[in-house]
Amino acid sequence: MKTEIISAISTANGVGGVAIIRISGEGCLNLLSKMFSPLSKNTKVENFEPYKLYVGEISCAGGFTDFGMAVYFKAPKSYTGEDMVEIHCHGGTAITQGVLKKTFELGALPATRGEFTKRAFLNGKLSLSSAEGLIDMINGESVAAVKSGYSLYREKLFEKVTALQDKITYALAEIGADIDYPEEDLGELALDTLVETLEQTQLTIIDLIKGYNAGSKIKNGVKVAIVGRPNVGKSSILNALLNYEKAIVSSIEGTTRDVVEGSLDINGVKFDLYDTAGIRSASDEIELMGIERSEKILNSADVCVAVFDGGAELTAQDKEIYQKVENLNHLIVYNKSDTFTGDKNGVVVSAKTGDGIESLKSALYQKAFAQGIDRNAELIVEERHLNALKKAEEYLSASLVGIEDGVPLDIVSEDVKSVWNALGEITGKTATEEIIDEIFAKFCVGK
Ligand code: GDP
Repeated sequence: MKTEIISAISTANGVGGVAIIRISGEGCLNLLSKMFSPLSKNTKVENFEPYKLYVGEISCAGGFTDFGMAVYFKAPKSYTGEDMVEIHCHGGTAITQGVLKKTFELGALPATRGEFTKRAFLNGKLSLSSAEGLIDMINGESVAAVKSGYSLYREKLFEKVTALQDKITYALAEIGADIDYPEEDLGELALDTLVETLEQTQLTIIDLIKGYNAGSKIKNGVKVAIVGRPNVGKSSILNALLNYEKAIVSSIEGTTRDVVEGSLDINGVKFDLYDTAGIRSASDEIELMGIERSEKILNSADVCVAVFDGGAELTAQDKEIYQKVENLNHLIVYNKSDTFTGDKNGVVVSAKTGDGIESLKSALYQKAFAQGIDRNAELIVEERHLNALKKAEEYLSASLVGIEDGVPLDIVSEDVKSVWNALGEITGKTATEEIIDEIFAKFCVGK
């Protein structure tokens, strides 16, 4: 099928050393020949050797010229799987716009968000989950997020899910044998094999679902709420963790009214810290609003850090705070270790001297990933994948119950087919146009 030629600036917005304009679609080399003059007079654009950079003059819309390079990627060995061309020009705003507009004047259409990658998907160059991994990599704010995106991009999940689908296909064939030849009863042995296949698939899917707990934190960051009565040193701890003065440290009660946010990297994972306004009775309306917000943060946090002044007696308010975090995933911190000695049942730190701050970071990581991160397992980071896996698991359960209850196999086979379809949503084999459009709309123009 012949597609339109599309083009876009693929490098980031703004001024830079160089910029890259990408053009994709049959006939793009011919389009290039109308705006690029190779430095070597003996070279013709139409005869460009693929994957080789050529130096030359770029004629731009508005009647000016830039000096740069161009490269041809021959279908199907290109990013989109179509004939592609890249123009490397100087990275000024007017220059890149001039090059882009020239491609439009010559008949290219502006590429929509993610259109290059969408074409790559439609041409079978990558799976849907791989495309999602690519967005995760580009948007990743921590090493762990980029790594999990990369693994998705490199089709690790695709391979696993495809292997499961193959098992399901096998299971369907087993059932098919029975449906096609109903007079031949499916032997005891074949039925056992079928049940075993479905059960194994179910276990693998349950394992994958479990990984979402860690995976979502890796992708989105771990949300940490810091609570404690006024003056125990919450803002000071936040500053010590973040290594800079962001929250206002003061000994006047109630100054930390707003929720202060900052992020830090622990073992390559992003942790987002939220200071709270202090949970206590207050008549001041603004303060009350702050308190309400703090409660909200506390209940939605992955880890709650309850801070106490280790050098002072625990007050009624301290106990109230303890009760609030008791049933949440929490960490007890005794601050101001420079003012007391002796053992405490929690992490002992001094925000003032920095003592224990590194241990606090380790403790935070342990709390966030209490079940550990299985580095060899494929982590589910996308909610969409989680939902598809849950759906697949439900159909698997239904199939197994059906077999157990002696439901006719041609009816059970409908549930087994639904397992296959649910898994296909991850790879893209059964994804609807709506899902596909939604995914590529998350991309930027030029990718
Ligand atoms: P918050 O109200 O809980 O946010 O507490 P702040 O961080 O504003 O600190 C309250 C007071 O305790 C300030 O005067 C800080 O200098 C002091 N403070 C905080 N951390 C420590 C610490 O580790 N040791 C000592 N001695 N004082 C601290």
